[in-house]
Amino acid sequence: MRFELPTLIYQEENCIKAHAAEMASFGTHAFIITGKYSSKKNGSLSAVMEALEEREIKITLFDEVEENPSIETCEKAARIGLEKGVDFCIGIGGGSPLDATKAIALLIGNGMDQGDIFYQNTDLGKNALPVICVPTTAGTGSEATPYAILTIHKECTKRSIAYRIFPKLALCDPNYLMTASSSVLISTAVDALAHLIESYLNSNATVYSKMLCEKGLTLWGSFAHKLSFLATQGKQEWEKCDFENMMLASTIAGMAISHTGTSIPHGLSYGVTYETNLAHGAACGLFLCGYMKFCQQKQQKAGDVEQILQLLQMETIEEFETFMDGLLSVFSFHFDRWEENVDGLLSNPGKLKNCPYPITREEMGGFYGLS
Ligand code: NAP
Ligand code: ZN
Repeated sequence: MRFELPTLIYQEENCIKAHAAEMASFGTHAFIITGKYSSKKNGSLSAVMEALEEREIKITLFDEVEENPSIETCEKAARIGLEKGVDFCIGIGGGSPLDATKAIALLIGNGMDQGDIFYQNTDLGKNALPVICVPTTAGTGSEATPYAILTIHKECTKRSIAYRIFPKLALCDPNYLMTASSSVLISTAVDALAHLIESYLNSNATVYSKMLCEKGLTLWGSFAHKLSFLATQGKQEWEKCDFENMMLASTIAGMAISHTGTSIPHGLSYGVTYETNLAHGAACGLFLCGYMKFCQQKQQKAGDVEQILQLLQMETIEEFETFMDGLLSVFSFHFDRWEENVDGLLSNPGKLKNCPYPITREEMGGFYGLS
């Protein structure tokens, strides 16, 4: 059994200021990589810039990362980083900027501005520039995973690059979650839930990874009713500890999938997001209940499904189904490429092998109520 988590993680209020010296110690010229708006609004970008400026670290900013970042965006950023001579990378935002940062660090560290290597089996990952992550959503756990998922336009889907690039440092301040909209909060929380469930019901699960999932699911269960209320009736009082628990559950879920990978729901989500723009977490959420029912029917893992429900403080899979329907009612989308989507997954051995049982086209069809 193996356990690897080389990322130094701080989760606390004002952790950027508190650990500024460690952040600045990775180089002399920082490449800050972020999305268009949110990091400017929630204060994370200015906190990082102030901390670096105080220590006279040069800064180049790239603030054009889109949701579900593309190979082309990473190439554009890498060209700028190479030209400016940056020597470490700081990703600020949701999973999109954090994943893009890992891919950009890989290119710059190898003196490249073309993503031809992204899906090749080379050892160039070791040359990636140091990556620091400042998450501002509580969903992907990218700050604690070695994965970077990019949109591949020519294949009309998304896929993780072929390298494992763990951030050197993660600075997780739950206060940044307070500016997130209801739909961002719900979708990202469902992503974290999907990570916990897909990691628990996974052929690579170990005592270590399951221990992480159990803690993550307990934390998730503590704010589940608030998410439900948010989705069905609107805002109510959220307390600081809710945001802390959300961030913690998300990072812990990231640690868990670092060990196991994700499985069928994630594999099915990528085509849906590509075709419909449905947010990543919501797209994974569509298939969670079907995946749990599928595992429940296979005797060996039935106990694991019961355990997940218990940790979430739910009694039956039907209760879970109603709960998920409520959360997902916030999102609207139209998808009519189910068959092609299943074909895509059936040709993705990486995701299939993580599922503890062989799974057929018909069984997956049942996930969206087609059979
Ligand atoms: P995201 O795509 O990073 O961001 C979604 C939206 O939320 C953006 O409009 C963003 O605005 C906004 N936003 C971010 N933080 C905010 C805040 N604190 N307040 C208000 N708005 C905020 O969403 P995500 O769900 O976190 O990341 C999804 C991506 O991560 C997908 O590409 C998915 O495949 C990937 N992923 C990676 C892993 C991994 O292990 N590496 C795991 C799961 C998923 P701006 O654009 O203006 O910033
Ligand atoms: Zn995910």
